[in-house]
Amino acid sequence: DLPALGIDIGGTKVAGGVVAPDGTITDTARRATPGTSVRATEDAIAAVVEELAERHGGPLVGVGVGAAGWFDRTGDTVLFSPHLAWRNQPLRQDLGRRLQRPLWVGNDADAAAWAEYRYGAARGSDLAVMITLGTGIGGGMVIDGRLQRGAHGVAGEWGHMRVVPDGRLCACGNRGCWEQYASGNALGLTAREVATSSPAAAALLLERVGGRAERLTGEDVATAAKAGDPLALELLAEVGTWLGQGIADMAAILDPDVVVIGGGVSVLGEMVLGPARERLERALPGRGFRPGPTVVAAQLGAQAGLVGAADLVRRAVAEGTA
Ligand code: BGC
Ligand code: ZN
Repeated sequence: DLPALGIDIGGTKVAGGVVAPDGTITDTARRATPGTSVRATEDAIAAVVEELAERHGGPLVGVGVGAAGWFDRTGDTVLFSPHLAWRNQPLRQDLGRRLQRPLWVGNDADAAAWAEYRYGAARGSDLAVMITLGTGIGGGMVIDGRLQRGAHGVAGEWGHMRVVPDGRLCACGNRGCWEQYASGNALGLTAREVATSSPAAAALLLERVGGRAERLTGEDVATAAKAGDPLALELLAEVGTWLGQGIADMAAILDPDVVVIGGGVSVLGEMVLGPARERLERALPGRGFRPGPTVVAAQLGAQAGLVGAADLVRRAVAEGTA
């Protein structure tokens, strides 16, 4: 029972870990994601794998890679990625050639959904929905113990449901997508808008970036909220409310028993989840006459993606498909 490497490639970082069969992480490494170049992104992945493998020293089952991209049904090719440079990229072939190890590649949020089902907050669920709040909104679902990938591999991209007619532009080519209102990027975007139009109200936030509104990021808002800045808390609550509304709509489609919130933004916990549950309660279709889903934070936190990717390569090796 050897450990496996799990790699999670998001919009801003490549995070990797050595993961034991029981889901525990024994070592981690990370690099910034050079989102603009395919080559540089693959270099960053290879660097994280080499660093971890070298420190580990012993044998490994293989490498599981969860990436913020839309994979085809075979799982070999990234058709498109809103936040990274991949367009019809044969990622499995590229990485297979470079890494020379048993390999699983797939969507980052699918991997996170799988980890939460196997080891975390969705254990025992009949229909679990995963929502990762990172650069964008990622999604995955496990129904009756099986990760669902859709007819073409692209299921679960609920970050790109239109929630505002002709709203904010999205990297997917549309306007008004959910991830433009409930994600790390959305948080930064709204903070910049507020700081530009009402600098007095945003004085505490602006102090963090030397008065330069255009430099505010979601991370600044998160740090400020933890320090008790009321505007930052309000912005997080707004993201939570958008989140809750989307979950209510998803309950109409999928009727999940549990909705797990992961990704970097989810470590903010109740500051986001509280307002999300409140909104869900008031927006669930047929409320009062039907059960709704439980909304919980990912038990594996922002590490769910890499833990899931590690387990998925373990399974792929056992099935002879790695
Ligand atoms: C993409 C997802 C990805 C997420 C990561 C979304 O825009 O569509 O595939 O998981 O961003 O944050
Ligand atoms: Zn979109």
